Formats: sequence, structure tokens, C-alpha cells
Amino acid sequence: MAVENVMKLIKEKNVEFVDFRFISLLGQAHHITLPATEVDEETFVNGVAFDGSSLPGFRGIEESDMVMMPDPESAYMDPFTAHPTLIVMSDIYTPDGQRYERDPRSIAQKAEEYMQKSGVGTAAFFAPESEFFIFDDVRYESTMNSSSFSVDSEEAAWNSNRKEEGGNLGFKVRVKGGYVPVAPTDTQQDIRSEMVRLMQESGLRVERHHHEVATAGQAEINFRFDTLTKTADNLMKYKYIIHNVARQYGKVATFMPKPLFGDNGSGMHVHQSIFNEGEPLFYEKGGYGNLSQMALYYIGGILHHAPALLAITNPSTNSFKRLVPGYEAPVNLVFSKGNRSAAVRIPVAAVTPKGCRIEFRTPDSTANPYLAFAAMLLAGLDGIKRKIDPTALGYGPFDKNIYELSDEEKKEIRSVPGTLDEALDALEADCDFLTESGVFSKDFIDNYVALKRSEAKAVAIRVHPHEYSLYFDC
Ligand code: GLU
Ligand code: MG
Ligand code: MG
Repeated sequence: MAVENVMKLIKEKNVEFVDFRFISLLGQAHHITLPATEVDEETFVNGVAFDGSSLPGFRGIEESDMVMMPDPESAYMDPFTAHPTLIVMSDIYTPDGQRYERDPRSIAQKAEEYMQKSGVGTAAFFAPESEFFIFDDVRYESTMNSSSFSVDSEEAAWNSNRKEEGGNLGFKVRVKGGYVPVAPTDTQQDIRSEMVRLMQESGLRVERHHHEVATAGQAEINFRFDTLTKTADNLMKYKYIIHNVARQYGKVATFMPKPLFGDNGSGMHVHQSIFNEGEPLFYEKGGYGNLSQMALYYIGGILHHAPALLAITNPSTNSFKRLVPGYEAPVNLVFSKGNRSAAVRIPVAAVTPKGCRIEFRTPDSTANPYLAFAAMLLAGLDGIKRKIDPTALGYGPFDKNIYELSDEEKKEIRSVPGTLDEALDALEADCDFLTESGVFSKDFIDNYVALKRSEAKAVAIRVHPHEYSLYFDC
């Protein structure tokens, strides 16, 4: 949408406020709102000032002035405000007119520009499947505090959910038993449908929604693929609508990767492909999964850099509690058709040449989508540039259920890092694929690693509930 169309929209929809949003280093949206009477074409040229010193990982107090430069393409009506309000996503600039090198949205755009300049293709497409839980407060509290919470039992999450206000009316979802049941077992059809309705009204092309595998309340809504920065904007819109519809229903939605021990966690599998002038470059009939050589090299790049990549795609201490065997979350750095225990899956059912893509299954929604998509693209492009052959390096293809292999067979297979600190170590040792292109600066990586190390430390020094089970009676 050009600026004049945004101005027209403001008139047509009687917009009273324009809400300018930017993305923090941690992937959260922040906003400053102007009365529509204060917004004109100039606002899109001069930007909107804000203080960058009050946000984790951004500028220090001595250099706090920042400017949001609104992107008119991203404008949509806020579905939640009492006063008609237009949301506009913005890039962050320094006062001297440079793109701020720690701005996630600018990094996403630079990754796209780098791909185009490198001549690999004209567009990289991304489609995230971002799973989440919808809890009500009673259930959430009882899960967190239950004394029956036992680490060794898969029944734990189910037991801890069992006591409900109003009594147990039956048709409850068992642990790992939540995949697509109808009502009355699925109690969240209406809430998901309302989320979808508002997503559509806000310009997202939604393809489907369903109850996911974990016990009551795990959900997934899928929207259509788009180019990198647009998809990250779409994911921010997706999360904003989910959080706020849940709130309207007196519930709380969380994208935390592993809120319930002993049950499936929430992933954000990311489907990816590259096109050149509308032609799909990942498809070649006859090869493994009908993948082209370019797609295989892309997979090679993703798997080779995966330990470092995970510091950005799985950037929380909780992320690594999801990446354990037995819950459809990937643990193994291999690629495979259909196999859900592999880090890279090639969806083959009913896939056309244009739909041919790879699915990287490790990421979760604690990732900042702008940074995560940019980092995955750079890993894949590095694979293409350096012809990283995933088969020669022992990454598969692997079509057996890897959870069920013998210990001997498992030795051959590399695993994802076990903790956030391990992933951060890997990122420190392997970050050239992010910085060589100039998309991420070395300063960005250092600052990011320091911020994430402080999170890991904050968790490590706290007393864990399970320590009582292990050590209290000593
Ligand atoms: N919830 C699973 C995960 O943590 C994925 C389930 C699925 O394949 O959709 O990745
Ligand atoms: Mg899913
Ligand atoms: Mg998937």
C-alpha cells in the first residue's frame, strides 16, 4: 500500500489513531500511538521518535534517541480497539538516518536483499506453523503448583489438570490424546474460529485450524506462506490476535515451547522454499522427495549450522525442554520424508512443484521471527554457496523412526544442543554464515549472546520444583 492509500484508508475508515509498532530484540511488538489528526505523508518520511534505551538489548542510555520509519505496506486495522485504530509496522533508524543494525525487521529485509544480490533467486518463501496452548487460569495455576506433579510419570500433566472448577464433566483430552477430536472433547472450536475470523478481517489468508496433540487446549492455526519479512509481520499479527481473543474469552494463550512436562510441546515448524521469477527452484522430479540439488544444499546448510542456528530459532531455556525424544519434536540432525523425529522433513503428500519445500521442525515461537527467518535463510544460502552435501556429511536421508533405533545406530546421528548455553557456545564458534554477508553484525551477535546468557543464568540460579523431589529428604 502506498502512503497515499494509507491516508485514504484513514479517511474511509474514520481512523482516530495510528499505532506505530516496532519489534524488540526479543521479538515482542511495542507501540506508540498518534491521533490520526497528527499523521500525514510527512510522518512516513520523518518517522516517529522513541527512546531506545528502555528496551533490553537496544541502545545505551547515552545514545537513546531512535526513530520508527513506518512501512505503509504493513498497515491494517486493529480489531481490538474501541476507537478505530490503524496499525503500521515500522523499521528502526538512528537519528542520522541509518537503519539501526540491531533492528530485527531491518535484519530480515537485509537477508532478503542479500539473497537477491547473490543471484540465487528472487524470493524466499516462509510458512510457520506456530502452535500454542489456550489455558484458563484455574488449569494453568493447578498445573504449575500441583503437588502430584511427578517427573517420571507421563500421567503427570493429566493428573495435574484433573481437578476443575465445576466438576469433571467427562470428555477430557488425555495426555498426547488431543489430535483433532470433535466437541465436546474439543472445547475450543469457537475460540479458534473467532481468532481465524479476526485474522481474515486483518488481511491474513488462513488455511485451517485444529486442536493439537497435547492435552486440553493445544491449538494450531495455519496461514499462507509469503516472503520473509511479510511472513514475520504476519506472525506478529497472528500472535497479537491469538493473545487478545484468548483474553476476551477469559483465557490465556501461550506460545511457550514446553509448558507441560510429560506432554507434547509447542513448536514453530518453518516451511521454506526459493523461487526465481515465479519458478520454483527446490523441485526436481525423480530425486529424493523430488528435491533439486539446490534444495539439498539448502538442507545441508541448515543442518550443518543447526547447533548455532538454534541459539536464534530456539532462544529460550524452555526451548530445550521441548527438544526431547517422544513428543514429535525433533532431536536428530537429519533430513527425511515424512519422519517427524527428523529436524528437516520433506512434506511429500500432495505436493506440487510450486508447493515443493523443506520443513525445519526445531524452531519454536520464543524465536524472534525476523531474526529466525533471516538466520535460516543465511544458513541455507551458505549451504548453496559452499555446496554442503547433507548426505556426504551423514545427515541422511533417514526414513526410520529414529526414536526407536538401537544405541549403536543412534551413535551415527548428531543431536540438537541440549541447552540454551550449548547453542550459544555453538553460535559463538560458528557465526560467519550470519555476519559475512553483513546482514548480522558481529556486535549484534555479541550483544545477543550476552543477553541470552543472562537469561540462562537467571534460570540456573533459581530453585527448581523438581529439586524438592530429588533432594528435600536428604
Ligand atoms: N507439537 C510438535 C512439536 O513440538 C509437533 C506436532 C506436529 O507435527 O504438528 O514440534
Ligand atoms: Mg502441529
Ligand atoms: Mg509441521
